[in-house]
Amino acid sequence: MEFIADEMLGKLAKWLRILGVSVITDLGEGNFDDLALKVAEERKCVILTRDESLFKRAVKRNIRVEFVPEDPIKALVEISAKYGIQLEIDLDKTRCPLCNTPLRKVGHEEAAGKVPDAVIRSEKQILFCSNCNKYYWTGTHYENMLSELEIARSLKEADDERRRE
Ligand SMILES: [Zn+2]
Repeated sequence: MEFIADEMLGKLAKWLRILGVSVITDLGEGNFDDLALKVAEERKCVILTRDESLFKRAVKRNIRVEFVPEDPIKALVEISAKYGIQLEIDLDKTRCPLCNTPLRKVGHEEAAGKVPDAVIRSEKQILFCSNCNKYYWTGTHYENMLSELEIARSLKEADDERRRE
């Protein structure tokens, strides 16, 4: 499953990529809405948007489209519930939050000299984006993301409860 998200949904796109879901945001030169509709049709993507005119055009052409909430965590909860996306980070599947390329795990020897020494000395997992030429590792930022996901999971559970009642 693949999504197309417009630029208003940068945070949601990042989250989905971190969770291993492909989200296209860069459609190249031209009118974004026109390109989004064309690519969604060709590749059977789901469009995520907060733009009413894009939403309506997609509905008219029978393209799957979601009008998502403004709050990125609420949006994440809604989309994950609807499309069966686990709110958990799997480092074997995670994608570059900036460019959507699947990240590759790298050993500490390979990353030596390219990331801070403290990271090399630690037990942290290091990942690499070959497109951005950028290293990621499981530090404070990662811990913060885990707690945000925790919040998203509890929101999702509360929604499930409400639906059962
Ligand atoms: Zn990248």
